[in-house]
Amino acid sequence: MSIHLSRGGTLRRVVLSCDVAGCPIQLEPPAIEAWRSDTDARSWARDHAVGWTSDPIRQTDYCPEHARFSEAPAADDIPARPTATVRDRSGNPLNRDDYTGRLREQLVEGDRLTARTLTLTAAQAAVTARLLDELAGVYRGESLGALAQELSALLESRLRDRD
Ligand SMILES: [Zn+2]
Repeated sequence: MSIHLSRGGTLRRVVLSCDVAGCPIQLEPPAIEAWRSDTDARSWARDHAVGWTSDPIRQTDYCPEHARFSEAPAADDIPARPTATVRDRSGNPLNRDDYTGRLREQLVEGDRLTARTLTLTAAQAAVTARLLDELAGVYRGESLGALAQELSALLESRLRDRD
């Protein structure tokens, strides 16, 4: 979010920008009187941004499409699926399903751009496959687990081809 005074100086304008990495959505709600404080201007803007949500702890804002990112997971809601180590530019975890989608795109794009291959020893490939199996077990029933399972199977098939 950015706050700035308009040219005439009679109004204080606030521009909300979505804090999800890579999201370009911005919104300028109705301006507020220049004499109001930044805090006041901020809450005014948030109150007048239809469909937007904010996280008061992290001081972040989310466009209607990403509105769910501001919600703490409630007990009987579908649990949030944050990534354990991956973070976006604002330091927030990603949704694991979204992240899986990105990884799949990376696989497709990488194969399209270059045919370069990397050699692992049979032991390294076998251990990597076991680690992927473990990951698939942790995230069983999720897209991330399915991706780990597929890659483990791929490594296994390459190992078999070697024999
Ligand atoms: Zn957004």
